[in-house]
Amino acid sequence: MVKLKLKKKVWQIGIPLLLTTIVGIILGTNFYNDYKYKQTYEYKLISHGYTKEETEKLLNYFQDEEKRNQLLEKEKNSTILELIKEKYYIHSNLESYLAYKEKNKKKSNNEIIAVINTHQEENAYEETKESDTEKGILININKFYKVNEDYEPQEITNINLQYAYANNKLANVANEAFVTMWNAAKEQDLQLIVNTSYRSYKSQETMYENTKAANGSRTADNMVARPGHSDHQTGLSIDVYEKNYQTMATFKDSPAYTWLKENAYKYGFIERYPEGKEYITGFTYEPWHWRYVGEEAAKTIHEENITFDEYYAYYVENQA
Ligand SMILES: [Zn+2]
Repeated sequence: MVKLKLKKKVWQIGIPLLLTTIVGIILGTNFYNDYKYKQTYEYKLISHGYTKEETEKLLNYFQDEEKRNQLLEKEKNSTILELIKEKYYIHSNLESYLAYKEKNKKKSNNEIIAVINTHQEENAYEETKESDTEKGILININKFYKVNEDYEPQEITNINLQYAYANNKLANVANEAFVTMWNAAKEQDLQLIVNTSYRSYKSQETMYENTKAANGSRTADNMVARPGHSDHQTGLSIDVYEKNYQTMATFKDSPAYTWLKENAYKYGFIERYPEGKEYITGFTYEPWHWRYVGEEAAKTIHEENITFDEYYAYYVENQA
């Protein structure tokens, strides 16, 4: 009997004690986890008014503690938020975006990002950088990226006179793609003809100097690229006309231009200087100037309706 009573007592005390301990551990763990979570930047940012999604983006971009603390020093920063939500946002450009935005309050975030990514905030030719010639068909030559006198594209070939005026040369890969495109256009009764293609540094120099002598440097800079800054030196670009529209003035109204705008990307060509994008490309609208970049890049450029310069900044340079 004594034994039984004792057993009963053990049970009476033991079970509640055990339960209390278990509950205690659970609660304790919860409190501890809660305490730990409240120390995280995720919690702090959410308490600052950022949504969960915004918080994730911010934490992804701002990895170091100092920057994260800076975010918490100020009120919810909607300027930064708007910028990081932009598709072509490049984090290393953030300071430049903010500085440019400060000076250009009326510009949209989209424009600000395009201008900064493509280095157009500087006056043309004021600041330049060597172009990365290792990029092959994605080489970018413009008013910012330059190549030197010695740069020549590999495997340059004469364009057959069936497709071009005399003395036109292109890199093999671009020439082959052009012939394929030419045939596709021909099926639509459009007869493309290449007016200008590869230009060496020297011939660009002559062209620029002649234009400058005749019109002054300001006009020359609007009309012709300076030597080392011409897309034609890539050997991947063509100035193209159609048999019935053989001038710069008429080509933009031709069915061939409409056809190219809809179809050229399938053959790896893109419109290099589109209308309305002068502030990004740095060059005036040139409907006749088409550049070979390969099918993959051309498809993205076409579908996303961006310029080659924006593509290069975001998809080539930024991913390197
Ligand atoms: Zn051209």
